[in-house]
Amino acid sequence: MIYNTPFITSLNCAGEVHLLVGTQSLGSTISRVKAVIASGAQAKVVNMCSENDFKKIQEHFYGDERVCVFLKPFALQDLTTLGRQFVGGIVDKVFVNLPQEEALLMQDIFKQCLKLRIPINTSQRPEMSTFSPLSTYSDPEKSGLQIAVTTNGQGCLLANRIKREIVARLPSNISKAVTNMGQLRDRIINEDHTELITTYHQNSDLQELGYGVDEDVWDSQKLNKLVYEFSMTEKEQKLKRTRWLSQIMQYYPLSTLADVSIDQLADSYRSEYAEKNASSSKQSSAQPDHKARGDTSEENTPAVPAVAVSKDDVLKISNEKGRIALVGSGPGSISMLTLGALHEIKTADLVLADKLVPEEVLQLIPSGTETFIARKFPGNAERAQNELLEKGLAGLKDGKRVVRLKQGDPYIFGRGGEEYLFFSQHGFEPEVLPGLSSALTSTVVSKIPATQRDVADQVLICTGTGRKGALPDIPEFVSTRTTVFLMALHRSSVLIEALLSKGWDPEVPAAIIERASCPDQRITRTSLKYVPEVVEEIGSRPPGLLVVGRSVTALLSEEKVRFNDTRKFYIEEGYHYDQHNVALTKLASAYHI
Ligand code: SAH
Repeated sequence: MIYNTPFITSLNCAGEVHLLVGTQSLGSTISRVKAVIASGAQAKVVNMCSENDFKKIQEHFYGDERVCVFLKPFALQDLTTLGRQFVGGIVDKVFVNLPQEEALLMQDIFKQCLKLRIPINTSQRPEMSTFSPLSTYSDPEKSGLQIAVTTNGQGCLLANRIKREIVARLPSNISKAVTNMGQLRDRIINEDHTELITTYHQNSDLQELGYGVDEDVWDSQKLNKLVYEFSMTEKEQKLKRTRWLSQIMQYYPLSTLADVSIDQLADSYRSEYAEKNASSSKQSSAQPDHKARGDTSEENTPAVPAVAVSKDDVLKISNEKGRIALVGSGPGSISMLTLGALHEIKTADLVLADKLVPEEVLQLIPSGTETFIARKFPGNAERAQNELLEKGLAGLKDGKRVVRLKQGDPYIFGRGGEEYLFFSQHGFEPEVLPGLSSALTSTVVSKIPATQRDVADQVLICTGTGRKGALPDIPEFVSTRTTVFLMALHRSSVLIEALLSKGWDPEVPAAIIERASCPDQRITRTSLKYVPEVVEEIGSRPPGLLVVGRSVTALLSEEKVRFNDTRKFYIEEGYHYDQHNVALTKLASAYHI
């Protein structure tokens, strides 16, 4: 068990001098030298274990001025003489790679480095190291993406394996995605932010809105705040592209990020943006398990026998004219997609998907199927909704099988009822397929029994955001009720204040459940009164909801959920059933029409 959480950083080593002492393992010395020079530092190697090592290193880095190899034993003054002149000759980092018999020398070097504040790593000796290099993936395309994993001494082979698993799950165009997002961010910062800052001569009120000249300080919680579409201030209008980009980075399938262009973030509202992206994502996905999604080529043959259903069987069921289904796709995990939803996805001519529909589900759409993802960014919800309805209607008039894929359940805060009426009024009555709602699955994945004898005998699902952003009617407090508030986290302080003033118990347990059933699910338990502070502290990972009631802590040991002013919350990360996702994706991909 690790009690301290070491501080992971990415060090800028340009121009530094790193001293390598000993060549106990020649292979790792050579890799270390390579890593040192790749970081922009100079490598100086002393105390060869043999003359042969000296020759080998010299040969390897022949003619490279960034590498100096000395055929001499280590002396303590090397620490203070081989470094850069302007820091008094002190070397910037030390890597020790000596045989076990040299334990005394290792001790001396370590102590001296501590005194001189030189960061030191002693190979295989964490007790004589102030830092440890991590098992790292650096994007060979040089996008800047690096992924480092550590188990903090519990097995570097394991760390390496975990790193490989993470890298294998990235889409093949991840380098382009990183570069593209970086370029768009820079351009937006240059054009919009700089213009605003010069227009308003100061940026303090911009920071209040959640913006800064550096994307790292774009505050996702503030950026996800409700924006009143038709009453945006001039400033908000100008920062619209920032909001859109921030949301795209957070919600859109990773593999689509490579193709987002500046025009698609522009004010004008005409590009075929999501449509293009959705289809390109399907073509460019690198994940072998997703490749099987409906393609019939040999390479993509699914690992389980395909279930063959003829297109005729399907067409017989559908009307002559266009047909529309409103389909719930569940809260995120592919394990929560219904068979009915899968069937609809596989047989659609046109899929109109919500922004929140998870990537794994979108990847089940056969590659030839026209797909459009809603552009419901803050301040754009109404227009995006109308755009979807129009596209759906046009498809229906062309006789298409239209699938309106909605997140969770279509009738739980999904505007499903409105869409039902719209299409019915135009002569196309939708078939509606339920989905597992985030409201009742978030609780399950968070060990919250929404009802339990002697704890909770009723459940209420409500919203934290009423029409036009006003607070909704506040329900009364019932101590035996589990209340689920959707769309509530961006305004938790106003909501909690209203609940408390209506007599809700400030100590009642509450859970902030974010990205329920997704691999990056986060569950934060606290007491009702601490919710706003906790949300502020942990930041947001949308979408998320709030569950309040005694059931929140019913299945957890008491010491985990005893909260007070010094311990205000308890976090659990990750969704463990997602380990079955690969198998489930294969299963779902095997279904062909
Ligand atoms: N029809 C959807 C809800 C749409 S409203 C359903 O039945 O789940 C959107 C809100 O749902 C979000 O603001 C958030 O509060 C909640 N939500 C959706 N997916 C979620 C998830 N995976 N984890 C937590 N909350 C989620």
